[in-house]
Amino acid sequence: MLIVMESNATPEQITAVEQTVASHGFEARLIPGGERVSIGVLRNKGAVDAALFAGLAGVKELSPVTRPYKLVSRETRAEDTVVQIGEVAIGNGHLTVMAGPCAIESEAQALTIARRVKAAGAQMFRGGAFKPRTSPYSFQGLGLEGLKILARVREETGLPVVTEVMDMETFDAVETYADMIQIGTRNMQNFSLLRRAGRARRPVLLKRGMAATIDEWLMAAEYIMEGGNTQVILCERGVRTFVHHSRNTLDLSAVPYVRRESHLPIIIDPSHAAGRRDQVIPLSRAAVAVGAHGLMVEVHHRPDQALSDGAQSLYPAQFDGLCRQIRGIFQILGEGSSLA
Ligand code: PEP
Ligand code: MN
Repeated sequence: MLIVMESNATPEQITAVEQTVASHGFEARLIPGGERVSIGVLRNKGAVDAALFAGLAGVKELSPVTRPYKLVSRETRAEDTVVQIGEVAIGNGHLTVMAGPCAIESEAQALTIARRVKAAGAQMFRGGAFKPRTSPYSFQGLGLEGLKILARVREETGLPVVTEVMDMETFDAVETYADMIQIGTRNMQNFSLLRRAGRARRPVLLKRGMAATIDEWLMAAEYIMEGGNTQVILCERGVRTFVHHSRNTLDLSAVPYVRRESHLPIIIDPSHAAGRRDQVIPLSRAAVAVGAHGLMVEVHHRPDQALSDGAQSLYPAQFDGLCRQIRGIFQILGEGSSLA
């Protein structure tokens, strides 16, 4: 249940409603809105009796929240959430592009790529310091040294950086260095990690599990929001299917569905969806056309020598072309018009 307060409700009235909610054994969660405050009722088992709150001073209306994901649902918050990362805003009607290598390999590698993607128009830099690799013999990332390189990239280029956190042991370090914390597909249902992300001081990029339904993905986002972190961005990166012509299958229909169901921004990672360079640009065009709020793309200046995911990494010149093309598509759609 959502208790929507009058726009002129006083702080005392809001507190009184919160206390009444708590007195019935539920949790009250304040949800600030543009015009008015709402109070979400959480931890109810079954429907909440509207009569409990209907007569309270300052209450405008009561609306049921029927979805299992409460804080993530549009029923709880009708306006789009805009996630702010320094000067970059995601979900505000503009298109945000994040790009960089799969893994940070050296300072020279990271800086070379960062300069190129910035010049092409990327607003954020990506790069893994801790890499979740299928084989224990593959390059595992530079770890803490990789995080320090990311900080130098930010200093030098001004681009905010996003990097993946893999476990609880390294969470504090990632939180210290990253502007946005990525939770990867393999950890989408790592509930202790999600709870820790809920207490994080940074926005969280939550990738969809490679075999997760959208409900499971939104419930994972609910864990983060339930912990108190409202700055969550969803990232569709392809799901596992029976096909062999691409690494995964990009689920484009996730975008209009998520935009209807949730107020959180959703971006697309065409690189891990495709697994091969030749599909990344076409999928990026489609992602923009279908209404994604942004893209996360792997780029490497020497993909043949990359220590991970070289086959799906674009050459910088290709990334230039991608940025030009998607800018054109975005303009044709018109700001905000991509909403289903
Ligand atoms: C990545 O972004 O480098 C990555 C490992 O992505 P995913 O978790 O989607 O496989
Ligand atoms: Mn990768």
